[in-house]
Amino acid sequence: MTTISNALQAVRERIARAAVQCGRAPASIALLAVSKTFGPDAIRAAYAAGQIAFGESYAQEALPKIAALPDLDLEWHFIGPLQSNKTKPIAEHFAWVHGVDRAKIAQRLSEQRPAGLPPLNICLQVNVSGEASKSGVEPAEITGLARAVAALPRIHLRGLMAIPAPTEDAARQRAAFRSVRELFEQLNEQGFALDTLSMGMSDDLEAAIQEGATIVRVGSAIFGERKAN
Ligand SMILES: *Cc1c(COP(=O)(O)O)cnc(C)c1O
Repeated sequence: MTTISNALQAVRERIARAAVQCGRAPASIALLAVSKTFGPDAIRAAYAAGQIAFGESYAQEALPKIAALPDLDLEWHFIGPLQSNKTKPIAEHFAWVHGVDRAKIAQRLSEQRPAGLPPLNICLQVNVSGEASKSGVEPAEITGLARAVAALPRIHLRGLMAIPAPTEDAARQRAAFRSVRELFEQLNEQGFALDTLSMGMSDDLEAAIQEGATIVRVGSAIFGERKAN
């Protein structure tokens, strides 16, 4: 039987191997454990094995889990689609939001971020492979969006996030991740001080690491297959 602890260890080894193969320090890549559809017990098991950062996609599902784990010192990342009328609990309960693709959403998150908490860390979602998902800003619009978001008082703009269309072709995986990295470098040349590339999941984390990922978001390789809902 694969336990969460063993699976987590295997994922850490994949990350380290991919990093070393391309001359990067394994510690320069953070693992975000995507716990959507799994309950507090699974999160406790991962925490017991040393995992601190967890990713959730739906506020309705995440909030009761966060409330059920007050004794653990966890870092919550919101990685799901954002609706502008549902930003408040996200601004209040998460440390990071990865999928921002509109200035209006970022503005609401900034306004709703409680004063006692540090600024909310944000990654802008970019659509680099014309994926089916409608979310993600077009590359041509990234500079304007970055400028608007970087100016918000309660937001810390950290970098870019992408979910390229799934493919088993490693060269195509890398090409999509490379375009995200090129946009990231372009933004930094323009003066943004970005330090985060959130890309790579269970099936393509190696390709993402080869192209510079600093956070990989991994669900099924840690917790098992999700049931379709
Ligand atoms: C579900 C999800 C993941 C994790 O996907 P796996 O293939 O299970 O690793 C990563 N990122 C986002 C945005 C997700 O929604």
